[in-house]
Amino acid sequence: MSERIGTTCVQGGWRPGDGEPRQVPIYQNTTWKYDTSEHMGRLFDLEESGYFYTRLANPTNDAVAAKVAELEGGAAAMLTSSGQAANFFAVFNIAGAGDHVVASSAIYGGTYNLLAHTMGRMGLECTFVDPHCTDEELKAAFRPNTKCVFGETIANPALAVLDIERFAAAAHGHGVPLIVDNTFPTPVLCRPIEWGADIVTHSTTKYMDGHGASVGGVIVDSGRFDWNAHADKFPGLTTPDESYHGVVYAERFGLEGAYITKATAQLMRDLGSIQSPQNAFLINLGLESLHLRMARHAANGRAVAERLASHPKVAWVRHPSLAGDSEAALAAKYLPDGSCGVVSFGVAGGRAAAETFMKNLKLAQIATHVADARTCVLHPANATHRQMNDAELEEAGISADLVRLSCGIEDAADLIADIDQALAAVE
Ligand code: PLP
Repeated sequence: MSERIGTTCVQGGWRPGDGEPRQVPIYQNTTWKYDTSEHMGRLFDLEESGYFYTRLANPTNDAVAAKVAELEGGAAAMLTSSGQAANFFAVFNIAGAGDHVVASSAIYGGTYNLLAHTMGRMGLECTFVDPHCTDEELKAAFRPNTKCVFGETIANPALAVLDIERFAAAAHGHGVPLIVDNTFPTPVLCRPIEWGADIVTHSTTKYMDGHGASVGGVIVDSGRFDWNAHADKFPGLTTPDESYHGVVYAERFGLEGAYITKATAQLMRDLGSIQSPQNAFLINLGLESLHLRMARHAANGRAVAERLASHPKVAWVRHPSLAGDSEAALAAKYLPDGSCGVVSFGVAGGRAAAETFMKNLKLAQIATHVADARTCVLHPANATHRQMNDAELEEAGISADLVRLSCGIEDAADLIADIDQALAAVE
């Protein structure tokens, strides 16, 4: 990328020609008409590029996906209906029944559920490793049928920072790609592909949209992983796809196009979790200010974390950019310009004190959501992670008293005043 990230946020993906709309237009149509069925046949055979049905491709979605690919420094991208769909497709595109995945244990509860339980019912096994495990422990997690490694740049809500270079080296040493969910820092604050990740996913529902307006996801492929060098592990990319006229994705579309073309032509065709063009348009509006908002989210997160750390009614605080945080060294390496607006902490007095604190907040409001322009707060053990037992919670780095505060882009002084008055109400 020759231009700087803020310019790509504003102008990437959609570069209109003479007389074309300046804004990304919404193609709110399902189908395209053609004069001959021969022409349509060439599109179906992937011999020619063009649009025929929105479940397979839509120009609004393509423009927004292209912007995210540019932002992440990837070769190609695909929008999905949600972050869950993005992570499911990212893994299922290369791993299925009889295969195995190595994943960081510090990940979003929904993704844990997906890998540990739902994909387990589909015949995929997953070994979870502590993101700070030793190299030996990481190595021991791999099996001959391991097909990928999965982690989050900054884990939601544990706020553990993934050592992307170390996990990429381990994955590559075993001939498999590293998939990184980069939802929390966004490419404005970390670009995992530059550190060796092969595939990047997002819940665009979070900072990318930024306004709590639409659920969505995206998968970006670096185009760097050499599927042919490990052809026996990835037959879906290196042998004919009988469901698509015998196409061999890695041969026909090269390293840069194989993974996303397969995800689109095969998985999106069959599973149909598309992003609506309306929502893609909304995500693009969010992307246009992402660089400005992320700076503010990160600064507010840090200011609030510093205040909490000095407050006598707070038992502990976690924020990757907080001096002395267990993640500070990794954050200095991977997130030098700031980490995110999310702060985790425990109110002295445990669960009951946390409930009193949350009830008394006025600006920060209780919501399942995170990474929104408006500050929100959640007690994960009672909400997003309630399907986990205490042992699983501990393994994921979440204590029962953890409060997750997602700092928005309001004025930090007002957020701190709100927190102070809510803590004053705690006995
Ligand atoms: N990945 C991360 C890091 C998340 O925080 C979330 C949701 O909170 C998801 C994926 C799932 O995204 P969605 O809610 O858009 O399906």
